[in-house]
Amino acid sequence: MLNLAPEIAKRRTFAIISHPDAGKTTLTEKLLLYGGAIRLAGSVKARKAQKHAVSDWMEIEKQRGISVTSSVLQFDYDGYRVNILDTPGHQDFSEDTYRTLMAADSAVMLIDVAKGVEDQTKKLFQVCKQRGIPVFTFINKLDRFGRNPFELMEEIEKVLGIRAYPMNWPIGIDGNYSGIYIRKYAQIELFERGGVHGQWILPSTQGSVDDPAFKEILGDDVHQALCDDIALLDMAGDEFDFDKVAGGELTPMFFGSAMTNFGVKLFLENFLELAPPPMPRVSSEGLINPDEDNFSAFVFKIQANMNPAHRDRLAFIRICSGKFERGMTVYHAQSGKLVKLAQPQQFLAQERTIIEEAYPGDIVGLFDPGIFGIGDTLCQEGSSFKFQDFPVFPPEQFARVQAKDTMKRKQFVKGMTQLTQEGAVQIFRQPDYPVESFIIGVVGTLQFEVLEYRLKHEYGVDILMNRLPYSVARWLKGDNIDVKSIKNMDNGLFVQDIKDRPVALISNEWQLRWVMERNPDIEFLVVPHDA
Ligand code: GDP
Repeated sequence: MLNLAPEIAKRRTFAIISHPDAGKTTLTEKLLLYGGAIRLAGSVKARKAQKHAVSDWMEIEKQRGISVTSSVLQFDYDGYRVNILDTPGHQDFSEDTYRTLMAADSAVMLIDVAKGVEDQTKKLFQVCKQRGIPVFTFINKLDRFGRNPFELMEEIEKVLGIRAYPMNWPIGIDGNYSGIYIRKYAQIELFERGGVHGQWILPSTQGSVDDPAFKEILGDDVHQALCDDIALLDMAGDEFDFDKVAGGELTPMFFGSAMTNFGVKLFLENFLELAPPPMPRVSSEGLINPDEDNFSAFVFKIQANMNPAHRDRLAFIRICSGKFERGMTVYHAQSGKLVKLAQPQQFLAQERTIIEEAYPGDIVGLFDPGIFGIGDTLCQEGSSFKFQDFPVFPPEQFARVQAKDTMKRKQFVKGMTQLTQEGAVQIFRQPDYPVESFIIGVVGTLQFEVLEYRLKHEYGVDILMNRLPYSVARWLKGDNIDVKSIKNMDNGLFVQDIKDRPVALISNEWQLRWVMERNPDIEFLVVPHDA
């Protein structure tokens, strides 16, 4: 029997979720710096460009530096092996982020202290909630003017439906903050103005919040405000309940500033202590525990043509149980084939390295001979279970695409198929349509442009793309559905998804309600019922 327990116990695999500009790139880099994983915070700029314009995104994609598309950043800190699942910055690629969250055991929700809970935060939080993973909150940009912390707690509770437990608390009046009070240690930390490390821990200030030493440092008004706040928190706030955190009902809340490093180390250390190690995963044969001897993993991301010179395709797997060894042969449940894992790669910020072994919670990039799909299971020879399917995310924008040059039909279909396997877009077919075409569905507009660009540059196919006037897709469920008999669909379109399931494309939610009312025998599902 393998003794996997020590390896499992020290692993933390998580993703950072946030609305663009909250500071995710900055925080990620700071965490990596603490872990000694990068020499210089150099990739921030490159990654930032990705979010602003398609042209920039493509320029970077051409070079495909690993910092742009990397799927995981790994480092060691204080006895822990940390895997940060990296997610694209631009919200148009949120589908990618949703899938990446499948591979995480916890999430860090980053919120701008001045802006509070924003749209993208809400969407991503919902995915974490559905998965039931613990969420840790980092309220960022404390060095700037910000909102009242009680107000932020209330917003998190109202908008996201989770209660927050402040681990530390901002010191200051009217949104003008000068530091934090750490509840656990009854200690204050103040920003160091112009300091080297951006952080200054007062050596002699450990003690109760009403310690006169605090008063002297903070001044009467600020000190009084802090005492009042802490008294209120102690009296009216939640108890810290570890089980509630683990169950996703309570979020430990930290305040700090990624840019100035303030509160980042404290956050990292507390987070690593509280965040769960690799968790069991649901499969067709029940829960698979990480400490089982038999190796298992699932694919959560596929990235084709990362290196244009080699035309390689990488499948990123999350290890769920057992030990991974280079060159091992595994069973690929979806194709029923045995596959040898010859050149496993791991990513340390900008560098790829070949790895010899890996453990549950780790992410490994595999060369994909073109057989893997997102959500696929790999397991030990002799086993044949499958992990739970990945959720399908409802597309919100649609277009019809076809090859400009019909002679390029083959490359077109190949490109579309591969990019769909990668999860770049969802495709549908309209069976009675006279020309070879696909209807594609996406969450963000940029996905259309990236598809067009990649088909041209990676497959040599120019396409015609016509946007379609629908914004809602619904999978139809009912007995013997005859789409022709469905009423009020004059402005809609019936298509089939990749597994030939019937889907209705409808112009808007209002129209959808009308169609639903007229067809009470049919269920209109946001995602396929067997997904
Ligand atoms: P992302 O879009 O979430 O990846 O955000 P970035 O990390 O790129 O940060 C967005 C902007 O906020 C950049 O200009 C950062 O320099 C700035 N920023 C990030 N963290 C802080 C912080 O703690 N304080 C201040 N004042 N600015 C910050």
